[in-house]
Amino acid sequence: MSKEFVASRLDVAAFAREGASLAGREPLRQRSRLLDETRGEGADLPVQWTAQGQAVAVTGGDPQVWLHLKASAVLPLTCQRCLAPVDVTLTVDRAFRFVADEATALAQDDESEEDLLVLSREFDLVELVEDELLMEMPAVPRHEVCPTEVKLVATDAEFEAQAAAKPHPFAALQKLKADKGN
Ligand SMILES: [Zn+2]
Repeated sequence: MSKEFVASRLDVAAFAREGASLAGREPLRQRSRLLDETRGEGADLPVQWTAQGQAVAVTGGDPQVWLHLKASAVLPLTCQRCLAPVDVTLTVDRAFRFVADEATALAQDDESEEDLLVLSREFDLVELVEDELLMEMPAVPRHEVCPTEVKLVATDAEFEAQAAAKPHPFAALQKLKADKGN
């Protein structure tokens, strides 16, 4: 009886009419724009979301088409204060109302608290999830309280950067000496 709804090609009006819901959970690696933000870190971490459709009766008109979206993701980013890794949790809890066309959306945008989107029979809900999570990205990712003294950690980061660089020639020399010694 109930229709199969596909998140990437959602018939939004039918979804609302049936009061249907969808949920998704996929690894960060499948959301390339979010993965860009972490520079490929945390590719296996989950992006989770749920969506609920709702038709709201209106006197003397067609029912309104609503979609309630909740989404969350944890992105491993770099704290801009201490340069250590910081896990930033993004959460979205938002309601959208779908209108017939762009002109209606523009006309009603100022008077509406909810976000307005244009109705589609093949709406990409997964794309919307990613859009909304990206909008929650902090302009400057940082710890609420950095784990250690900023100065100290900056030094550590510098040290790590050196360690990660090519082996120092002296290290190679040292190894050569050690081999000869044996
Ligand atoms: Zn920090």
